[in-house]
Amino acid sequence: MEFSVLAEAFEKIEATTKRLEMMEYLVELFKKTPPDLIDKVIYLTQGKLYPDYLGMPELGVADKLAMRAISLASGKPLSEVEETYKELGDLGKAAERLLSKRTQLTFFSQPLTVERVYATLDKIARTTGPGSIDQKVKLLAGLLADASPSEAKYIIRIVTGRLRLGVADMTVLDALAEAFTGSRENRHILERAYNLCSDLGAVAKAVAKEGLEAVKGFKIELGRPIRCMLAERLPTAEEIIRKLGKASAEWKMDGLRMQIHKDGDKIIIFSRRLENLTEQFPDAVELARTHIKPKQAIVECEACAVDPDTGDLLPFQELMHRRRKYGIEKAAKEYPVALYMFDVLYVDGRDVTTEPYIERRKLLEQIIVQDEWVKVIPNIITDDPRELEKFFEEAVQLGCEGLMVKDLKAPYRAGAREFSWIKLKREYQAELTDTIDLVIIGGYHGRGRRAGKYGAFLLAAYDPENDVFKATTKVGTGFTDEDLDRFKELLDPLKIPHRHPRVVSLTDPDVWFVPKIVIEVVAAEITLSPTYPCGMNAIREGSGLALRFPKFTGRIRFDKAPEDATTEKELIEMYKKQLKKIS
Ligand code: AMP
Repeated sequence: MEFSVLAEAFEKIEATTKRLEMMEYLVELFKKTPPDLIDKVIYLTQGKLYPDYLGMPELGVADKLAMRAISLASGKPLSEVEETYKELGDLGKAAERLLSKRTQLTFFSQPLTVERVYATLDKIARTTGPGSIDQKVKLLAGLLADASPSEAKYIIRIVTGRLRLGVADMTVLDALAEAFTGSRENRHILERAYNLCSDLGAVAKAVAKEGLEAVKGFKIELGRPIRCMLAERLPTAEEIIRKLGKASAEWKMDGLRMQIHKDGDKIIIFSRRLENLTEQFPDAVELARTHIKPKQAIVECEACAVDPDTGDLLPFQELMHRRRKYGIEKAAKEYPVALYMFDVLYVDGRDVTTEPYIERRKLLEQIIVQDEWVKVIPNIITDDPRELEKFFEEAVQLGCEGLMVKDLKAPYRAGAREFSWIKLKREYQAELTDTIDLVIIGGYHGRGRRAGKYGAFLLAAYDPENDVFKATTKVGTGFTDEDLDRFKELLDPLKIPHRHPRVVSLTDPDVWFVPKIVIEVVAAEITLSPTYPCGMNAIREGSGLALRFPKFTGRIRFDKAPEDATTEKELIEMYKKQLKKIS
């Protein structure tokens, strides 16, 4: 197939502002394309060489390299290429102009074919190591030398990652349906196949070669990502319950979505956008290997940053330390992730996406080995909005974004955003900008590296009216090993067998203390919480105030008596003063 056919189609697509016209140009192009080439034509139209999920080397040729190739092919000095680029602001157009000024076409020039362009670009993408730059320049210059000015423009845009014709997946599917089944009505059949395999090229090849029946037969395959099911949003618990009736409310964690494919020892992890995350998350790979029981499975989870010592959730930003190409192992140790499983799509050869949510959840609970690093996401099943709100507050205080409420009967609808999953997020938040001083009233036994010490503490604010200390948060983050040794020394003599009479708490720590030691903490926010009595009913009936992402600053306030700690009233005021709408 001549590459000029593709270039002409690109010219037309670029010139139109109407989606329908764009689609018609695609239909025309697809009809002219031999079925064996249709996948490649589609990848090129989207400025790629392969479907994203393969994680193949990307083109991403640097401007400098491309300019050298243009200079070689056009016979113009590099400085002129640079100037033309500066003038036009588009390297593709610069190539087009400079190549049209070539004095004579080489005698042996042959028309470029799609096959040759694709194979050469593929070679450019895969060439690495010493000397690779010169080799890439040579390969690219070779293509440009045989290209027409318009073809050169598109080749340059593709290799530099700037094709941007804006041809969306759905437009391609519409055009494929029209071109090969005679009706756009069949788009949904192609779309279903695409949702199961995430590869437009594979769908196109099947429909072009074998027709609609072949597409209907598409199945889930291990190693090929399934397009993610997405959620709608409603503002209140009442509206969600009105819509779904009795439903399952799961924590909506603030992490990174992972679709994990397990085939024996082989683990592949895809992101929500279907990038391959396997290399980047060796810790998640190991957890998947050891905590997913079946030989073969596809599960979905949220990978969250946790404090390695306490297992407490950390803010989402901590995960950013994992977005790197080098030092992966070290980052995995310093910023490990825990996996919170929320769905299962495939088990030992069986596609379970068509089963209702509630059955998939049961299956998930059976196939996952749960411990502190891997959990099935906590949920409640309810039709009571008030209960939903309580669960919501608790989840937010623990570090979640909110809740994901799911229709008990809904199948897993790949690629769909529907009301079978509804998210409930906060509209307001109260940032905490100052440090506060709280009294230690209880302790929790440490685990792992912290075994034999206290790993976390229950803290309280002071209520001078009733002369009591009211629990408001549990803190386990921010302590060094030395801090914890010190706290053991300080607190062991204050141990008592029951709650101190001046302490008010709705939860029981492992150990109670006489309220005496005051420590300084910071936190991201003050949040509502049904589990802490401090500020109970002050803002909202049935809810107290707690801290979100609390952290010890390192300062023990020996200068403060417990009665000098931050008061309940002060916390309520801080909450009210800081309350802001989340944009
Ligand atoms: P959003 O990005 O706000 O549309 O929310 C959807 C995202 O929430 C998903 O892509 C997941 O990464 C994430 N998520 C967190 N918890 C859950 C859960 N329990 N069920 C489904 N998705 C979840």
